Amino acid sequence: MRTRAAVLYAPHTPYVIEEIELDPPKANEVLVKFTASGMCHSDEHMVTGDMAMDQGILDMLGWQQYPIIMGHEGAGVVVEVGPGVTELVVGDHVVTSFVPSCGRCPSCASGHQNLCDNGAYLLSGRQADGTARHHSLDGQPIATMCCLGTFAEHSVMNINSLVKIEPDLPLDKACLVACGVTTGWGSAAYAADVAPGETVVVIGTGGVGMNAVQGAHHAGAKFVIALDPVEFKREQAQKFGATHGAASVEEAQALLGELTWGRNADKVIVTVGEGKGADLGTYMGMVAKGGKLVFTSVANMNDNEVTLNLFDLSMQQKSIVGTLFGSANPRHDIPKLLSMYRAGQLKLDELVTRTYTLDDINQGYQDMRDGINIRGVIIYGD
Ligand SMILES: [Zn+2]
Ligand SMILES: [Zn+2]
Repeated sequence: MRTRAAVLYAPHTPYVIEEIELDPPKANEVLVKFTASGMCHSDEHMVTGDMAMDQGILDMLGWQQYPIIMGHEGAGVVVEVGPGVTELVVGDHVVTSFVPSCGRCPSCASGHQNLCDNGAYLLSGRQADGTARHHSLDGQPIATMCCLGTFAEHSVMNINSLVKIEPDLPLDKACLVACGVTTGWGSAAYAADVAPGETVVVIGTGGVGMNAVQGAHHAGAKFVIALDPVEFKREQAQKFGATHGAASVEEAQALLGELTWGRNADKVIVTVGEGKGADLGTYMGMVAKGGKLVFTSVANMNDNEVTLNLFDLSMQQKSIVGTLFGSANPRHDIPKLLSMYRAGQLKLDELVTRTYTLDDINQGYQDMRDGINIRGVIIYGD
């Protein structure tokens, strides 16, 4: 079939909105018509080239990075199922999960679906069987972001990457739990393991960080400091449970000195757009004795240098932990967070600053770069 997609041909170029050829679903795959897709900052890393891999390695693996259909925060309706698919039927409402979960590998079986072994395919640009379903009209294969490609009206995806949701939930809000909400919320509730009465600093309160604020608030934090240079985001953070705002690390440090009588933050969560190793030491300076820093951000793949005072790390018994998808289990946490939304506990509506059509995607990303959106969402027509 033919569908329309936003195709990224190379780093530092705009998305090209065009018709593509989409093959029918094979075994363990379904065809989904998207209703909405969030515009996550992670997609931007393919635009800036932060996630560009060495061409020699790509050739050796048979992987492809460009051209690519980006987008991994989708929600829509199943319109066709491939041979042998029994867990989804036509008409089911689904949310994508940028981390697949097979349910059988050691990680899935031990309750860490975010670390599923199928994650090995995420950067391949191909389906799990190594072939492409997406092609240009002249037959060239097109890669998909995280085996999804939600910046398109339709996509064919593996059932391991889809989570069925209740059909009465609004898909234009449900898409947000596909990545940003769950990653941020889980970074606080699971990875940081925020406990009642703790002081938490969230660095970078965009689509992910805003939900780390929300998660820390749900977990009972006493003080939640939203650290972001953009005033609009600091203001918005108050709706999600931030008790204080800081425009810079210096401001946050001054606040921490006052609020904690110099003890610093029990938990610091890093959700900036692009994590930099050179900033790590500065962030660790806000962590209390025995406290923890959670690193959620995507960094440049080739950034191997960090600045860190190791004396401070051991003598103050601090820890640093990385987290993927907020250490959440997609099949457990996506429905759970949506049930919290239904119960009025989880804020989703307030995250969507603006909506766009697929044709407006370049404007949508410019708005993200300009810091005027918490989350922009693409709404697909009928
Ligand atoms: Zn994302
Ligand atoms: Zn697995």
